[in-house]
Amino acid sequence: MDELKRTDPEIYELVKDEERYQLESVRLIPSENYVSKAVLEATGSVLANKYSEGYPGRRYYEGQRYIDRIETIAVERAKALFGAEHANVQPYSGAPANLAVYFALLKPGEGLMGLALPHGGHLTHGWDVSISGTFWRPIRYVVDRESQRIDYDAVRALARKERPRMIVTGATAYPRQFDFKAFGEIAKEVGAYLLADISHIAGLVVAGAHPDPVPYADVVMTTTHKTLRGPRGAMILCRKELAEKIDKAVFPGLQGGPHNHTTAAIAVALKEAASPAFREYGHQVVRNAKAMAAELVERGFNLVSGGTDNHLILVDLTNRKVIGKKAAQALDRAGIVCNYNTVPYDPRKPFSPSGIRLGTPSVTSRGMKEAEMRRIAAWMDEVVAHIEDEAAIGRVSGEVREFCRAFPAPGITV
Ligand SMILES: *Cc1c(COP(=O)(O)O)cnc(C)c1O
Repeated sequence: MDELKRTDPEIYELVKDEERYQLESVRLIPSENYVSKAVLEATGSVLANKYSEGYPGRRYYEGQRYIDRIETIAVERAKALFGAEHANVQPYSGAPANLAVYFALLKPGEGLMGLALPHGGHLTHGWDVSISGTFWRPIRYVVDRESQRIDYDAVRALARKERPRMIVTGATAYPRQFDFKAFGEIAKEVGAYLLADISHIAGLVVAGAHPDPVPYADVVMTTTHKTLRGPRGAMILCRKELAEKIDKAVFPGLQGGPHNHTTAAIAVALKEAASPAFREYGHQVVRNAKAMAAELVERGFNLVSGGTDNHLILVDLTNRKVIGKKAAQALDRAGIVCNYNTVPYDPRKPFSPSGIRLGTPSVTSRGMKEAEMRRIAAWMDEVVAHIEDEAAIGRVSGEVREFCRAFPAPGITV
């Protein structure tokens, strides 16, 4: 980054600092990852110079000879990888992609049913502060109080009563698998569309480490930057019948010109995700999460739903007498980065909830395995047990930095 260094040393230094931080810390935010150098190169390419409103072969600008080919490759790879009839790779990110789906298929005020935010759902699944909860009529299902899992009978009963026009399945903080078949049947029974928002788990789905929504959902949306390990962006997959509506909603309905540098990087990430190595990666993400969960349970941590069968873990810290935010901040000082999170039926407020959320996509991208997960869990235990003891936290921080040296991070040259 010699030019950046010369032109803007201030930003250059901050980028380098962030790079070092990503290298020297154990990153457990489940929505984050390390993309490959190839993905970074495509993202930083001259494709950012282009305007190309429209779709391949149907643009409003001339000069698309290469852009059309790139977008077509991205679309074809997305369709092949997910087994979908149609793919739109233009959404700028997950939130606008969901908005495009709603805009395509719902009239204002129609019922939109999603998992409540404090139970693991995403803001864009009809929460109050989101446009999704104001332009459409929000209907919220929750997890069961005892099992802390989705109760499909309760979802069915709510859907029968409220008659949503669309049901959304998917979450940002749900450590269990989704039964897409059950959701599909419920949606069909009440005449609703089913949107599977697999932003968090798309990489697991393509690796075969999580059930596949494509046979059951009318529309599948995913971000491309979480377990899928691509650039920041999103895509929408659907059956042929809905293709035109979806495409029109993305452009010109909601967006302007596509981010072609992102499209190219999505194509690269999809190629990587089709490899046997990625398949192994997806399964290792889950094995790592299970190993970390087991070690945390062993050490007396209380996990929402008792464990995990995907890439993430929700820890309820109530029994450890530490609040989530305080734990997340202390862990960050120790070089272990996670976020505070509500737990289902949390008696505390969203800005200072009872839990923390952990995930294994990033550490798995660095080649860490089950033994390393146990080690990280031991450090977390130490920090939470010595939350007021800066010397202890400092000790862990030194150990974590040393430990990270042994695991090169994709995309970062030392
Ligand atoms: C991350 C996420 C989104 C939003 O994606 P952004 O790229 O942050 O806009 C939407 N839905 C779910 C389930 C997510 O996890």
